[in-house]
Amino acid sequence: MSDLSIVSVETTVLDVPLVRPHKFATTSMDAQPILLVGITTGGGVTGYGEGVVPGGPWWGGESVETMQAVVERYLVPVLIGRRVDEITGIMADIERVVAGARFAKAAVDIALHDAWARCLDVPVHTLLGGAFRTSVDVTWALGSAPVEEIIAEAREKIESRKHFSFKLKMGALDPATDTERVLRVTEALAGQAGVRVDFNARWDRLTALRHLPWLADGGVQLIEQPTPGEQLEVLAELNALLPIPVMADESVHTPHDALEVARRGAADVIAVKTTKCGGLRRSREVVAVARAAGLACHGATSIEGPIGTAASIHFACAEPGIDFGTELFGPLLFSEELLQEPLRYSDGQVHLPTGPGLGVELNMDAVKRWTRN
Ligand SMILES: [Mg+2]
Repeated sequence: MSDLSIVSVETTVLDVPLVRPHKFATTSMDAQPILLVGITTGGGVTGYGEGVVPGGPWWGGESVETMQAVVERYLVPVLIGRRVDEITGIMADIERVVAGARFAKAAVDIALHDAWARCLDVPVHTLLGGAFRTSVDVTWALGSAPVEEIIAEAREKIESRKHFSFKLKMGALDPATDTERVLRVTEALAGQAGVRVDFNARWDRLTALRHLPWLADGGVQLIEQPTPGEQLEVLAELNALLPIPVMADESVHTPHDALEVARRGAADVIAVKTTKCGGLRRSREVVAVARAAGLACHGATSIEGPIGTAASIHFACAEPGIDFGTELFGPLLFSEELLQEPLRYSDGQVHLPTGPGLGVELNMDAVKRWTRN
């Protein structure tokens, strides 16, 4: 086998334009920043990971700029000279150097998995115990255009058999207007496709108590994180009140967070992002706690590019606990392809890429074109 020791780590910030603006309650983005982390071994093998947050630091405090500083200043010294098959030890040592910063740690964890798998000439899912499925369902996030345009976008996705389930962001508008907007979309798609809503923790308890029952009555399938992440008692109250599943996202970053959600009955489903959890190993621990408590898990996204998305696909295909579908649509929002061979989406699903490592190869010309100067 080739020399597994880590000889260099390179970080690059990309700004990749999107096909249309992607709106959240507090911000909108028309390009997605990505921190690309490349870990190279003495044998000349390079593995990649992505540090990605949805648009900026509003979601969890990290951004590509903070991730680049954390990786270069604090994580690289832990990595150099170690072997790429020492992931457990490396990640334990990293915990002693940097608290939190899970998005940055995820980029390193995934680059290590990609590099190690490439050294062994096996796919990343083999390192996770093997894939037990080769594709997963993908929900599409609809934009924030006027209602008629949103419905037309959804119908186009259904007719082209790309997606059969949709997510709408809420929380940016006046709650009554926002609720009415979502109910119109849900009604128009009734019988054809399900609609879920994500508030990114922007409603307060009373607003949620007043308006969420209308959404449930109107046929919305799932309520994602209506209220602030740390207010688990409020989430538990809403979960007890509502006849449809509640999903925790901002409330769960760690296995212990998942344990608290389970203890309090705060949600039926946990949104597991390999990014926010700090990589593939930590994500597994979150899913294990959820499964032990009988909770479902959704393969969620931070709008990763193709490397981060491929990592999450390997994870979802190797982890039976990801049993509530995925939203691994990130690359479909990008107007530029960063891979030599794009990820394959069809019939409402994304397919597990084949080949060593993450099974995807970057197009270095495209990477250079979108590298931030
Ligand atoms: Mg969310």
